[in-house]
Amino acid sequence: MRNPGGYVIIREQGYLPARLNGELQVINKDKYEIDTFSCYHCNRVVHVPVKADPANIGGTCPNCWKLICPQCVGKGCRPLEMQIEQMEERERILRSYGVI
Ligand SMILES: [Zn+2]
Ligand SMILES: [Zn+2]
Repeated sequence: MRNPGGYVIIREQGYLPARLNGELQVINKDKYEIDTFSCYHCNRVVHVPVKADPANIGGTCPNCWKLICPQCVGKGCRPLEMQIEQMEERERILRSYGVI
């Protein structure tokens, strides 16, 4: 079991209980609160205001089709997990050569 360095996806979504016309109902939380997503590449949490223009909140990576933040748009597909794997792979290779 490897430690992925605290990699966590925070996706705020779900339903809120609310009273409508005196009756307890469940409303879609996304419609009433700011939604957030974690950039798949750098793990930055991006807030998504209701009806936000997708162009202003980042975008979708054309390679892995995950949501990414504005800072990662156009920088190629570099998912955090892949970066961690690359670091581990590099360390493994260095170790095998006795460098570290
Ligand atoms: Zn990002
Ligand atoms: Zn990607």
